[in-house]
Amino acid sequence: MSYPTRTELNNDVLRARISKLEEERYRLRFLLWLRHGCEITALYGDDGEMSCGKCGIDFKRFTVEQIANTWKAAARRVLDETGGEGC
Ligand SMILES: [Zn+2]
Repeated sequence: MSYPTRTELNNDVLRARISKLEEERYRLRFLLWLRHGCEITALYGDDGEMSCGKCGIDFKRFTVEQIANTWKAAARRVLDETGGEGC
């Protein structure tokens, strides 16, 4: 049996940190999907999916930029439709 090298130990630490960040990222996406403001009946969550039939966002696959752009476009449509009066 050989001892792990310093590089192997560092890699193990980094892998553990990445794993923890990935878990946290998943949990935050789940919470965003669940509480982003659309009705619960619009949410699709079978088979590990996290999408919304109302705003069309796939919270599992969209990048943060895609999610932000989708919401910005929706806000722009509301402003255009209401002449800037908002909701
Ligand atoms: Zn939605």
